[in-house]
Amino acid sequence: MSGGATAARELPAGLDAASVEQMSAEQLLAFVIEQFHPRLYVACSFQKEASVIMDIALRISPEVRFFTLDTGLLFPETYHTWRRLEQRYGIAIDVYQGPSLARQAVLHGDKLWERDPDACCGLRKVAPLKQALARVDCWVTGIRRDQSPTRANTPKLHWDERHGLWKANPLADWSDKDVWRYIAAHEVPYNPLHDRGYESIGCTHCTRPGSGREGRWYGHAKTECGLHG
Ligand code: SF4
Repeated sequence: MSGGATAARELPAGLDAASVEQMSAEQLLAFVIEQFHPRLYVACSFQKEASVIMDIALRISPEVRFFTLDTGLLFPETYHTWRRLEQRYGIAIDVYQGPSLARQAVLHGDKLWERDPDACCGLRKVAPLKQALARVDCWVTGIRRDQSPTRANTPKLHWDERHGLWKANPLADWSDKDVWRYIAAHEVPYNPLHDRGYESIGCTHCTRPGSGREGRWYGHAKTECGLHG
Protein backbone atom coordinates (compact mmCIF):
# COMPACT_ATOMS: atom_id res chain seq x y z
CA MET A 1 0.00 0.00 0.00
CA SER A 2 2.86 2.41 -0.67
CA GLY A 3 4.38 4.05 -3.72
CA GLY A 4 2.90 7.55 -4.10
CA ALA A 5 -0.14 8.52 -6.11
CA THR A 6 0.03 5.24 -8.01
CA ALA A 7 -0.16 3.18 -4.79
CA ALA A 8 -2.17 -0.04 -5.08
CA ARG A 9 -5.81 0.56 -4.28
CA GLU A 10 -6.53 -2.89 -2.89
CA LEU A 11 -6.50 -3.51 0.82
CA PRO A 12 -3.74 -5.92 1.96
CA ALA A 13 -4.45 -9.63 1.67
CA GLY A 14 -6.70 -10.84 4.46
CA LEU A 15 -8.18 -7.40 5.02
CA ASP A 16 -11.53 -6.44 3.50
CA ALA A 17 -13.79 -3.44 3.89
CA ALA A 18 -15.93 -5.27 6.46
CA SER A 19 -12.97 -6.08 8.69
CA VAL A 20 -11.73 -2.48 8.46
CA GLU A 21 -15.15 -1.34 9.62
CA GLN A 22 -14.79 -3.57 12.67
CA MET A 23 -11.58 -1.80 13.72
CA SER A 24 -11.63 0.64 16.61
CA ALA A 25 -10.12 4.08 16.10
CA GLU A 26 -6.96 2.91 17.88
CA GLN A 27 -6.70 -0.21 15.70
CA LEU A 28 -7.20 1.71 12.47
CA LEU A 29 -4.66 4.37 13.42
CA ALA A 30 -2.15 1.69 14.42
CA PHE A 31 -2.77 -0.03 11.09
CA VAL A 32 -2.24 3.04 8.89
CA ILE A 33 0.76 4.18 10.92
CA GLU A 34 2.34 0.77 10.44
CA GLN A 35 1.45 0.66 6.74
CA PHE A 36 2.28 4.21 5.69
CA HIS A 37 4.48 6.15 8.11
CA PRO A 38 6.40 8.36 7.25
CA ARG A 39 4.22 8.85 4.16
CA LEU A 40 1.20 9.38 6.39
CA TYR A 41 -0.21 12.81 7.26
CA VAL A 42 -2.81 13.53 9.95
CA ALA A 43 -4.93 16.59 9.14
CA CYS A 44 -5.40 19.02 12.01
CA SER A 45 -8.37 21.40 11.99
CA PHE A 46 -8.10 22.12 15.73
CA GLN A 47 -11.65 20.99 16.24
CA LYS A 48 -12.31 18.47 18.98
CA GLU A 49 -11.99 15.43 16.69
CA ALA A 50 -8.47 16.52 15.73
CA SER A 51 -7.52 16.68 19.41
CA VAL A 52 -8.73 13.12 19.95
CA ILE A 53 -6.96 11.72 16.90
CA MET A 54 -3.73 13.47 17.87
CA ASP A 55 -3.84 11.98 21.36
CA ILE A 56 -4.57 8.45 20.12
CA ALA A 57 -2.00 8.60 17.31
CA LEU A 58 0.81 9.88 19.52
CA ARG A 59 0.14 7.15 22.08
CA ILE A 60 0.77 4.67 19.26
CA SER A 61 3.82 6.46 17.85
CA PRO A 62 5.47 9.76 18.79
CA GLU A 63 6.74 10.00 15.20
CA VAL A 64 3.34 10.57 13.58
CA ARG A 65 3.28 13.62 11.30
CA PHE A 66 0.58 16.29 11.42
CA PHE A 67 -0.33 19.16 9.13
CA THR A 68 -2.76 22.04 9.11
CA LEU A 69 -4.16 24.46 6.55
CA ASP A 70 -3.74 27.96 7.94
CA THR A 71 -6.15 30.23 6.07
CA GLY A 72 -4.94 33.24 8.05
CA LEU A 73 -8.56 33.68 9.09
CA LEU A 74 -8.85 31.26 11.98
CA PHE A 75 -10.25 32.28 15.35
CA PRO A 76 -7.81 33.41 18.07
CA GLU A 77 -9.10 30.46 20.11
CA THR A 78 -8.12 28.12 17.27
CA TYR A 79 -4.58 29.52 17.09
CA HIS A 80 -4.39 29.20 20.88
CA THR A 81 -5.54 25.55 20.70
CA TRP A 82 -2.86 24.93 18.07
CA ARG A 83 -0.15 26.24 20.42
CA ARG A 84 -1.55 24.28 23.38
CA LEU A 85 -1.53 21.01 21.45
CA GLU A 86 2.02 21.53 20.22
CA GLN A 87 3.17 22.29 23.76
CA ARG A 88 1.27 19.42 25.35
CA TYR A 89 2.64 16.82 22.94
CA GLY A 90 6.01 18.40 22.11
CA ILE A 91 5.35 18.36 18.37
CA ALA A 92 5.51 20.83 15.48
CA ILE A 93 2.58 20.76 13.08
CA ASP A 94 3.45 21.37 9.42
CA VAL A 95 1.66 24.38 7.93
CA TYR A 96 0.32 24.87 4.40
CA GLN A 97 -1.08 28.21 3.26
CA GLY A 98 -2.64 29.92 0.27
CA PRO A 99 -1.78 33.46 -0.89
CA SER A 100 -1.56 36.28 1.64
CA LEU A 101 -4.86 38.06 2.21
CA ALA A 102 -3.39 41.18 0.61
CA ARG A 103 -2.38 39.23 -2.50
CA GLN A 104 -5.80 37.59 -2.69
CA ALA A 105 -7.48 41.03 -2.50
CA VAL A 106 -5.28 42.33 -5.33
CA LEU A 107 -6.00 39.32 -7.53
CA HIS A 108 -9.65 38.70 -6.70
CA GLY A 109 -10.96 41.77 -4.87
CA ASP A 110 -11.86 42.33 -1.23
CA LYS A 111 -13.93 39.89 0.78
CA LEU A 112 -13.87 37.06 -1.73
CA TRP A 113 -15.42 34.83 0.97
CA GLU A 114 -18.63 36.90 0.74
CA ARG A 115 -18.88 36.92 -3.05
CA ASP A 116 -17.51 33.50 -3.93
CA PRO A 117 -16.73 31.23 -0.97
CA ASP A 118 -15.94 28.30 -3.26
CA ALA A 119 -13.18 30.33 -4.91
CA CYS A 120 -11.91 31.54 -1.54
CA CYS A 121 -11.82 27.99 -0.11
CA GLY A 122 -10.15 26.86 -3.32
CA LEU A 123 -7.30 29.31 -2.83
CA ARG A 124 -6.95 29.12 0.93
CA LYS A 125 -7.76 25.46 1.63
CA VAL A 126 -8.01 23.19 -1.39
CA ALA A 127 -4.78 24.26 -3.13
CA PRO A 128 -2.70 24.06 0.10
CA LEU A 129 -4.25 20.64 0.82
CA LYS A 130 -3.10 19.39 -2.58
CA GLN A 131 0.43 20.53 -1.74
CA ALA A 132 0.33 18.65 1.56
CA LEU A 133 -1.12 15.43 0.14
CA ALA A 134 1.33 15.33 -2.76
CA ARG A 135 3.95 14.29 -0.19
CA VAL A 136 2.20 11.23 1.27
CA ASP A 137 0.32 8.01 0.48
CA CYS A 138 -2.40 8.24 3.14
CA TRP A 139 -4.07 11.00 5.13
CA VAL A 140 -6.16 10.88 8.28
CA THR A 141 -9.17 13.08 9.00
CA GLY A 142 -11.61 13.61 11.87
CA ILE A 143 -14.76 13.15 9.78
CA ARG A 144 -17.71 11.58 11.61
CA ARG A 145 -20.75 10.13 9.86
CA ASP A 146 -23.24 11.93 12.05
CA GLN A 147 -21.83 15.39 11.26
CA SER A 148 -23.91 15.85 8.10
CA PRO A 149 -25.88 13.90 5.48
CA THR A 150 -22.94 14.29 3.07
CA ARG A 151 -20.73 12.42 5.53
CA ALA A 152 -23.23 9.69 6.47
CA ASN A 153 -21.61 7.01 4.29
CA THR A 154 -17.98 7.79 5.09
CA PRO A 155 -15.92 4.55 5.15
CA LYS A 156 -13.21 4.15 7.78
CA LEU A 157 -10.57 3.58 5.11
CA HIS A 158 -10.89 4.15 1.38
CA TRP A 159 -9.08 5.22 -1.74
CA ASP A 160 -9.52 9.00 -2.08
CA GLU A 161 -10.09 9.29 -5.81
CA ARG A 162 -10.05 13.08 -5.80
CA HIS A 163 -6.59 13.33 -4.29
CA GLY A 164 -5.10 10.00 -5.39
CA LEU A 165 -4.17 8.47 -2.06
CA TRP A 166 -5.66 6.53 0.86
CA LYS A 167 -7.86 8.29 3.37
CA ALA A 168 -8.52 7.06 6.90
CA ASN A 169 -11.39 8.31 9.03
CA PRO A 170 -10.85 6.58 12.38
CA LEU A 171 -13.70 8.44 14.13
CA ALA A 172 -16.23 7.74 11.37
CA ASP A 173 -18.53 5.78 13.70
CA TRP A 174 -17.99 7.94 16.80
CA SER A 175 -20.79 10.06 18.20
CA ASP A 176 -20.40 13.53 19.62
CA LYS A 177 -20.64 11.99 23.09
CA ASP A 178 -17.88 9.51 22.30
CA VAL A 179 -15.58 12.40 21.40
CA TRP A 180 -16.35 14.34 24.57
CA ARG A 181 -15.98 11.20 26.68
CA TYR A 182 -12.48 10.62 25.29
CA ILE A 183 -11.47 14.26 25.78
CA ALA A 184 -12.62 14.18 29.42
CA ALA A 185 -11.04 10.79 30.18
CA HIS A 186 -7.64 11.78 28.77
CA GLU A 187 -7.75 15.51 29.59
CA VAL A 188 -7.04 16.39 25.99
CA PRO A 189 -6.78 20.12 25.11
CA TYR A 190 -9.63 21.18 22.82
CA ASN A 191 -10.92 24.30 21.10
CA PRO A 192 -12.92 26.33 23.68
CA LEU A 193 -15.25 27.59 20.95
CA HIS A 194 -17.06 24.26 21.25
CA ASP A 195 -18.14 25.33 24.73
CA ARG A 196 -19.66 28.48 23.21
CA GLY A 197 -21.99 26.69 20.82
CA TYR A 198 -19.69 26.22 17.83
CA GLU A 199 -20.05 22.62 16.68
CA SER A 200 -18.05 23.02 13.45
CA ILE A 201 -15.23 25.56 13.45
CA GLY A 202 -13.58 27.12 10.42
CA CYS A 203 -12.66 30.69 9.41
CA THR A 204 -13.95 33.68 11.38
CA HIS A 205 -15.84 35.08 8.38
CA CYS A 206 -17.69 31.85 7.62
CA THR A 207 -18.43 30.26 10.98
CA ARG A 208 -21.30 30.91 13.37
CA PRO A 209 -22.44 28.99 16.40
CA GLY A 210 -24.71 26.10 15.47
CA SER A 211 -25.15 22.38 15.61
CA GLY A 212 -23.69 20.08 12.95
CA ARG A 213 -22.23 22.02 10.03
CA GLU A 214 -25.16 24.47 9.80
CA GLY A 215 -22.99 27.21 11.31
CA ARG A 216 -20.64 27.18 8.32
CA TRP A 217 -21.04 29.54 5.31
CA TYR A 218 -24.20 31.04 6.79
CA GLY A 219 -26.42 32.38 4.00
CA HIS A 220 -24.85 30.12 1.33
CA ALA A 221 -25.90 26.59 0.27
CA LYS A 222 -22.28 25.50 0.80
CA THR A 223 -21.65 22.91 3.56
CA GLU A 224 -18.20 21.61 2.62
CA CYS A 225 -15.01 23.52 1.86
CA GLY A 226 -13.96 21.17 -0.94
CA LEU A 227 -11.49 19.16 1.16
CA HIS A 228 -13.74 16.13 1.64
CA GLY A 229 -16.24 16.22 -1.18
S1 SF4 B 1 -14.04 29.19 5.07
FE1 SF4 B 1 -14.54 31.27 4.28
S2 SF4 B 1 -12.78 32.61 4.67
FE2 SF4 B 1 -12.13 30.45 4.97
S3 SF4 B 1 -11.24 29.87 3.03
FE3 SF4 B 1 -13.39 29.24 2.93
S4 SF4 B 1 -14.57 30.99 2.09
FE4 SF4 B 1 -12.48 31.71 2.65
